[in-house]
Amino acid sequence: MSAFDIAFLVFTAVIGGLRGTYHWRARAHRPRKRDTSWSDRALLLCAMAGMMPIPLLEIFTPIFAPFDVAIPSALSWAGVVLLALGALLFWRSHADLGDNWSARLAIQPEHRLVENGVYRRIRHPMYAALLLSGLGQFLVLANWIGGGSLLAVGVLFYAVRIPREERLMLEEFGETYRDYMRRTGRVVPRPRGRS
Ligand code: SAH
Repeated sequence: MSAFDIAFLVFTAVIGGLRGTYHWRARAHRPRKRDTSWSDRALLLCAMAGMMPIPLLEIFTPIFAPFDVAIPSALSWAGVVLLALGALLFWRSHADLGDNWSARLAIQPEHRLVENGVYRRIRHPMYAALLLSGLGQFLVLANWIGGGSLLAVGVLFYAVRIPREERLMLEEFGETYRDYMRRTGRVVPRPRGRS
């Protein structure tokens, strides 16, 4: 097992631990509105598969070996940095959302629009973390399937989930959210002073 595989396993353990902790904290939440569609459930299943079973199969079995990619080790080290940045952003976005967080698209009884912390300049830091660590995973595992799975999930969230989530937020917060959209970027921070 290479240093890169070990770096990825540490990343997975950190992400799994964070997600488990926030699920546990949110276990008593009874949302006032919730997207119960199968397509939203399927998105979450894809996210789980892209984050754990697929890369773990890549590390521990040879089944994806035909899809290996030659990546220079300097780039794989850059991938380790991206994994670390992704994990940091994933943690901070859960922490800043606090009780407003849920895995499914939902509105909590006391839902408040978070506009501070990592939400100050980006509306979707958690999905930005998926894209960052997805690229990191690809560079670290150097395999189209085992490495590319999380990046594919990030792109899916960008294309499918963000529009749905923003519709829900606009329904709930109206002009306040529209104003927030003007001040922020989706996954890339909007430069200060531009609106
Ligand atoms: N898209 C965000 C949050 C993902 S968690 C991100 O990438 O960081 C999904 C839940 O967060 C949704 O159920 C939605 O109700 C809630 N949410 C999204 N943006 C929010 C915000 N700025 N303030 C409060 N809740 C938010």
